[in-house]
Amino acid sequence: MPCPICGKPAQRDHTPFCSSRCATLDLGKWISGDYAVPVVEEDDLPDEEEPPKPLSS
Ligand SMILES: [Zn+2]
Repeated sequence: MPCPICGKPAQRDHTPFCSSRCATLDLGKWISGDYAVPVVEEDDLPDEEEPPKPLSS
């Protein structure tokens, strides 16, 4: 399974990434993406809540 960040073969210690660097990069990307989602007024939302969408490569 290739590293989703750089495409290199994943290392067992860092699965599914090739290194801790790529794992950190992915985490940072996930966090920044999460923060990039506009905050909506909770009062205006119905009870149904959308689950977070998985990252698509
Ligand atoms: Zn990598």
